[in-house]
Amino acid sequence: MPEPLGIFGGTFDPVHFGHLRLAEEAVEQLGLAGVRWIPAGQPPHRRPPQARAQERLEMVLRSTAANPRFSVDAAEVEAAVPSYTVHTLERLRSEFGPEVPLVLLTGADAFAGLETWHCWRDIFALAHVAVAYRPGFPVTGEALPAALAAEFAARRVRDPGVLAASPAGGIGTFAMTPLAISGTLVRQQLAAGLSVRYLVPDGVLDYIELHRLYKTP
Ligand code: ATP
Repeated sequence: MPEPLGIFGGTFDPVHFGHLRLAEEAVEQLGLAGVRWIPAGQPPHRRPPQARAQERLEMVLRSTAANPRFSVDAAEVEAAVPSYTVHTLERLRSEFGPEVPLVLLTGADAFAGLETWHCWRDIFALAHVAVAYRPGFPVTGEALPAALAAEFAARRVRDPGVLAASPAGGIGTFAMTPLAISGTLVRQQLAAGLSVRYLVPDGVLDYIELHRLYKTP
């Protein structure tokens, strides 16, 4: 079986150390060959991000460049229409072939909203899902909407290593270092004129200052 590849989508508005630790710890805990970061262009199921897609992409490129296990996929940013995760996974499946385990990485809050994603059940035919615990967002059957709780119970894989043994279809969880950092917090701090140093990488900090991003709420 080829080594599994992590797929990490998000608005990354801006990318912060919560995202970077999630990807780094996913590589170690799930035995991933690497993580492909996919910044969303126009996310279909949430309000538009504050920074432009090219700016968010640039910040992700700067943050991930030094890590040989990280790669960045600009296809959603460059697409003229909103991109659905299921279509991105179809594209990656044709790129990598039927055998490679693909592991969609999400935080617990994003996973809890999975039912609202376009053709969400089709995702499991294309990839595994690995859910990182996030402060304030429990991952238990009771915390999830009923249909998602049923999928979670049916597909749950207790040993994350098992995800490497098949191309798709399982749901794993992993306990990353808890970091209560969010894009919302970073934007709020900046709009209030407060520092975000040590919440985001220095390259992101420089980029935000240079382009005068997130000055307004
Ligand atoms: P916002 O506050 O703007 O909604 P966010 O910080 O949640 O942003 P996203 O780009 O929406 O960032 O998140 C991309 C993915 O990273 C999602 O799956 C989200 O759950 C996960 N994630 C973001 N921050 C953390 C964190 N601190 N801990 C665990 N998971 C996180």
